Amino acid sequence: MITRARARVEGTVQGVGFRPYVFRLAHDERLAGWVRNDDHGVVLEVEGAPEAVERFLARLPREAPPLAAVERVRSRSLAAWGEREFAIVGSEARGAAAAPVAPDSATCDACLAELRDPGDRRHRYPFINCTDCGPRFTIVRGVPYDRARTTMAGFAMCDRCRAEYEDPRDRRFHAEPNACPACGPRARLIGAAAGGDAVAAAAALLRAGAVVAIKGIGGYHLACRADAGDAVAALRARKRREERPFALMVGGLDAARALVVLDPAAAGRLVARDRPIVIAPRAPGAVLAAAVAPGLRELGVMLPYSPLHHLLLGDAGVPLVLTSGNVSDEPIAFADDDARERLRGIADAFLVHDRPIETRTDDSVVRGPLVLRRSRGRVPDRLPLPIAAAAPILACGAELKSSFCLAKGGSAWVGHHVGDLKNWETLAAYRAGIDHFERLFAVAPAVVAHDLHPDYLSTSYALGREAVEHVAVQHHHAHLAAVLAEHGATGPAVGAIFDGAGLGTDGTVWGGELLVGDLTDCERAGHLWPVRQPGGDAATREPWRMACAWLAAAAEAPTPAVAAVDPARRAAVAGLLRTGTAAPVTTSAGRLFDAVAALCGLRAEVTYEGQAAIELEAACDPAERDAYPLPLTVRSGALVLDARATVAAAAADVRAGVATGRIAARFHHGLGDATAAACGRIAAERRLGTVVLSGGVFQNLALLERTRQRLAAAGLRVLVPRRLPANDGGIAFGQAAVAAARTKQE
Ligand code: ZN
Ligand code: ZN
Ligand code: FE
Repeated sequence: MITRARARVEGTVQGVGFRPYVFRLAHDERLAGWVRNDDHGVVLEVEGAPEAVERFLARLPREAPPLAAVERVRSRSLAAWGEREFAIVGSEARGAAAAPVAPDSATCDACLAELRDPGDRRHRYPFINCTDCGPRFTIVRGVPYDRARTTMAGFAMCDRCRAEYEDPRDRRFHAEPNACPACGPRARLIGAAAGGDAVAAAAALLRAGAVVAIKGIGGYHLACRADAGDAVAALRARKRREERPFALMVGGLDAARALVVLDPAAAGRLVARDRPIVIAPRAPGAVLAAAVAPGLRELGVMLPYSPLHHLLLGDAGVPLVLTSGNVSDEPIAFADDDARERLRGIADAFLVHDRPIETRTDDSVVRGPLVLRRSRGRVPDRLPLPIAAAAPILACGAELKSSFCLAKGGSAWVGHHVGDLKNWETLAAYRAGIDHFERLFAVAPAVVAHDLHPDYLSTSYALGREAVEHVAVQHHHAHLAAVLAEHGATGPAVGAIFDGAGLGTDGTVWGGELLVGDLTDCERAGHLWPVRQPGGDAATREPWRMACAWLAAAAEAPTPAVAAVDPARRAAVAGLLRTGTAAPVTTSAGRLFDAVAALCGLRAEVTYEGQAAIELEAACDPAERDAYPLPLTVRSGALVLDARATVAAAAADVRAGVATGRIAARFHHGLGDATAAACGRIAAERRLGTVVLSGGVFQNLALLERTRQRLAAAGLRVLVPRRLPANDGGIAFGQAAVAAARTKQE
């Protein structure tokens, strides 16, 4: 007897070797039939012995290829008609495409073996890839995913590549970016003596101390030897980046261990397919130029993720600084002409290639269990929404670390990290990214969600878009909702949301919030003690201003570090605090960290966002056990974290000559303990069992772990961001989750 079945497979199943996998599986079970891609994923029919068909359907999701993410298989039986062969048939595009595109993936072991094999025809070929690895999202122009709709369209495959591509038994069967030295993209070194192997020549330049711009997968990097002080200093000066740490690329795990201490989880993240920058503690004896990460105990390290990077690191034989190819705050360069123009004065030479990059993506960054930046290797993974969207949604995000999110039904796709929207070029990239995602995922937004802040460029963009409905979502509610949604929860829960700033529903600047909310609504149950922020934005660049504000609130005299600031500037700030002119009231937790860092003399002014808080965390003495007091008080119905006592205790310690490391640790302990106590109190009053910790301040692992431990000890379930950043990179997803929940009810 013979049976026939039809199956539809949904998830990330295009561009990941799924059809050849089905082909091999069908052969294995001696089944006839066919498989093809369509707008929703993969469709197939198999015919043969009933047990074989049954086994096939059971194995189908279980043995799927490494890059595939099977979300759903639906099958039904059909009448058998005696088909004899199994065939892979062409894609069918029906316009409304929804089949997910896979993220870019690091070079697989099989490709690496060929890359290093002198007898292989792809020996040292910088663009080697296969169905299990290589560029995906960054080269995709449209869907369904096939070569004609990628930036590989211009490269006609040679006979040998085509034979691999068409042979279902070959590991390059339907590998859309398949290429070889005879037919594929080529690397080229510009600005130095030409001829020979471009990668080897670039490595020689780097060894000699040059700065080289390198075109990679998602954009251009700037590279130099990480162990050469002159080279790193030159790169800093030319890039106009004063102190922000540089990321490093090293050849392998052993080379990484020479620089950073890796626990098993961190090592696992370093070698994962998405190959993020992993931030880990500096190893004792690490040989590095001091200018790589000034003043920090941690380093950001990544491993090679493209064949070009593998060759370059192998040839260079030393760790390289590999930082985004831009000047200061501009977005990373990815278009060739633009990169040459912008990086001309920075790079001594350019290592480039002729495979265009369709979408600029920065390297993703992780620290401990947290994602600080979600981009290359992770985008455009689908994120499920706990409450399905009744209408297609575009969520526009915030302003710093901006991203956007599209949602349809139970699915959401968060865009790549775009950056600070105050920059015109970034805004252009943001618009282009939204257009691209709308086409890739066939979403025509009817609902547009945005932040409450009227001055964010993302808000003006949102309000400028035609929509059936615009949904405004308060900033910290979006942070809370993002974490709930990524854990598949709908709330209600207590949320401690600590960040730099977000507009509150009362028109003041929030940032140290204790919320009670679900995906639909949110209420402010408490907050940090409010102080004035003298000079507004100027205070984010000059933490000493916040030290003045907090010391004044605590009725404390200036500490020596604050007293050392120019008296005229201090008098001006005192004036702003007294009159309230240009000194908005804020409950920002980020600004409290600034104040403590400044008053203990760690940092009076910063050169990059979050610097004072990062350095305060780095300063913590791990042996310290004490905690500063941070009483909870009730003020007009809200629970207030009264950090005046904390600041007073820190100031007293400074005057008593207590070491900065101990002050830093006591501050973190005090804030963590009080936050946990406040959340516990609210949870008990409201009979809630779940607490969410998020907002950019919770990227501070010392604070996060302290707070989490205290909450867990009190028997509460603690949710923290996992797949999305705790910072404003997670806001768009939260807005989408709220918009979906709200529009569902109408
Ligand atoms: Zn491969
Ligand atoms: Zn070829
Ligand atoms: Fe925020």
